[in-house]
Amino acid sequence: MSGVSNSVIGRSLLGLTLEELTGLALESGQPSYRGQQLFDALYRQRIERLDSISTLPAQYRAQLGEAGWRMGIPAIARRFESTDGTVRYLIELADGETVETVWMPEGDGGEAGDGSEAGEEMEPPLSGGARGQAGRRRATICVSSQVGCAVNCKFCFTALLGVKRNLEAGEIVGQIAAVLRDQGVKPPLERVNLVFMGMGEPFLNYDNFMKAVRLLVDGVAIPQVRMTVSTAGIVPRIYDFGQEAVRPKLAISLNGSNDKLRSDVMPLNRKWNLEMLMKAAREFPLRARERLTFEYVLLQGVNDFPEQAREVVELVRGMRAKVNLIALNPGAELPYRTPEQERVGAFQKILVAAGIPTFVRRPRGRDIFAACGQLKRTVEM
Ligand code: SAH
Repeated sequence: MSGVSNSVIGRSLLGLTLEELTGLALESGQPSYRGQQLFDALYRQRIERLDSISTLPAQYRAQLGEAGWRMGIPAIARRFESTDGTVRYLIELADGETVETVWMPEGDGGEAGDGSEAGEEMEPPLSGGARGQAGRRRATICVSSQVGCAVNCKFCFTALLGVKRNLEAGEIVGQIAAVLRDQGVKPPLERVNLVFMGMGEPFLNYDNFMKAVRLLVDGVAIPQVRMTVSTAGIVPRIYDFGQEAVRPKLAISLNGSNDKLRSDVMPLNRKWNLEMLMKAAREFPLRARERLTFEYVLLQGVNDFPEQAREVVELVRGMRAKVNLIALNPGAELPYRTPEQERVGAFQKILVAAGIPTFVRRPRGRDIFAACGQLKRTVEM
């Protein structure tokens, strides 16, 4: 895919399943339990170097190295820390491409991704501060699925990059491994939520994304209910996703309350329009106590009028769903403005009055370009 030969960058063990690792061990005449030892070293212990896997005989470690295998945890190229505690990581992949991964110490007030109840998440709009018991960590990692993005949403910075390539499953898991190491955090003892809401459209890299999810659940021990994936609305994959035995929760980027508006800001709406999208959403098989999330980026004077809030009410009516409102994170290259807080509040009020649980996402790390839609590998600060 990247065009770089294995002999130059080596082959990554991270990304292989237990079955694949067991097969690898058997091929070189090792007992099959070496597969499990490798699996534990990669995903549970997240060891960076083959030499450091003390459970394996030195001779087998050397043999793997000579065959071109490396562990595959990507390097942290840059680290930007926000005044609010958010950290944006520029992660360097084996072929030199980079993606961004964001660490949010207390989530963002909207998408905990941890199965917590609405009441617990309910907060006044845009308020700051830590929640939960003191000393109990409740961080969220925002993960990328592609280098760049092909979807071309008009309000998103990642769109400006175009799409370079899909990430491998190991590169998706690798972002989490690198950040957990850097933060010194070890699930499942310490609670970590994952949101697949970084660079890229996860449902346009579906197989690698789902493989990564299974490795994260089985290997890293992050429960499926603490993960949320957001899609711009790749309708056929929403149906596939509903059939998965193990899967994160689903969030759908709505961003427009009628087809005209949504096609203007998200051109993919011309391919999968609101009728197709909402049909898939209504038919989506939810687990017990699970809710669907709709995300709605508010663009001043474009999609933030009371009339549009009422259209959202009609779209979502009767569904087991909540709405997360995101005031635009602005930037010079974008033709939109951030609505005033009163307009955000007024929009929220209309949805809440109609019985739809609606939350305003607290912007995290805007000062370091780490907030929603801002991930475009900015290095000059
Ligand atoms: N491609 C997926 C995953 C990215 S999630 C998706 O579109 O859902 C990123 C979230 O941030 C989406 O809900 C998107 O609508 C929102 N977003 C994009 N650009 C933004 C911006 N400039 N300000 C605020 N939110 C933005």
